[in-house]
Amino acid sequence: MKLITGKTKLLGIIGAPVEHSLSPVMHNAAIAELGVDYIYVPFPVQKVDLSQAIMGLEVIGVQGFNITIPHKQAIMNLLSEVTNTAKMVGAVNTVWHNGAGWKGTNTDVEGFVAPLKAMARDWTSMTAIVLGNGGAARAVVAGLAELGLASIEIVGRDRQKLLNFSQTWQNAPKIAQLLKVHYTETLPELLSSADLLVNTTPVGMSPQIDNSPISRELMQRLKPDAIVYDLIYTPSPTKFLSFATNRGLQAIDGLEMLVQQGAAALEIWLQQPVPIEIMRNSLKQQLFG
Ligand code: NAP
Repeated sequence: MKLITGKTKLLGIIGAPVEHSLSPVMHNAAIAELGVDYIYVPFPVQKVDLSQAIMGLEVIGVQGFNITIPHKQAIMNLLSEVTNTAKMVGAVNTVWHNGAGWKGTNTDVEGFVAPLKAMARDWTSMTAIVLGNGGAARAVVAGLAELGLASIEIVGRDRQKLLNFSQTWQNAPKIAQLLKVHYTETLPELLSSADLLVNTTPVGMSPQIDNSPISRELMQRLKPDAIVYDLIYTPSPTKFLSFATNRGLQAIDGLEMLVQQGAAALEIWLQQPVPIEIMRNSLKQQLFG
């Protein structure tokens, strides 16, 4: 058991609900391994209390915190500084105190690209198809643009939301150029062009583990060297990824993104390298026993 003293520094996560967050497990495991005098605590904060909570966290000397649903967008107006990455994504998931006030960024982008970068491929001629156009899809698009993909095809089920999604990249003209949006019914024709297929919908997530955003038959349309990436981390594998691996395709699940976005946040707070393997193992232990 960690000894908490008057000098122990506070980190944490704010959200509602926050009880099921995996972040405390992952961060406290890394903190214990490093032997630094910090503790990471979940703070339940309701929508109406957000601005008061931010001021309160500053008053009690919290060093930094993560943000989850429903505050990722709303917090942006309450910070003194926001990174370009977070502005592009339109959401903040990590905040730290820079002396003058709270500064926010979005480490989901770094988390998403980490397992792709590890593959050391030349992404510049590649096409990605992204299923879904919600919050996570925005971090995915920013990550794919950072990797330098040739085109990014977004597939969604709601025409108005798709249109809104495509219009929100006007401040990032390079991304706006790469991006096309498509209604779900055109997906079967698109699939054969994909080098990378990313699921950002919650379809297939526990407890709806028998569902997949695309059928086994549609998975056959992908190129034999296509990579299939599911942002979902439980179950492992999802139906979607099992269709991919049954076809011999390379598959990536969402656990690494979760680990790497957390590691990127902890590095910002501690200003030192963090034990990623310990973070990964603590999550696996918590999720799968
Ligand atoms: P979100 O903002 O609610 O977006 C979900 C998207 O999926 C929306 O475009 C939604 O379409 C679409 N969708 C939902 N149900 C669908 C269905 N039955 N069929 C087709 N499309 C459907 O959620 P999010 O924050 O982006 O998160 C999405 C997923 O990513 C979740 O499973 C989450 O756990 C995962 N995630 C993982 C990580 C990680 O670190 N691994 C990080 C972030 C998110 P409509 O708008 O039309 O409803």
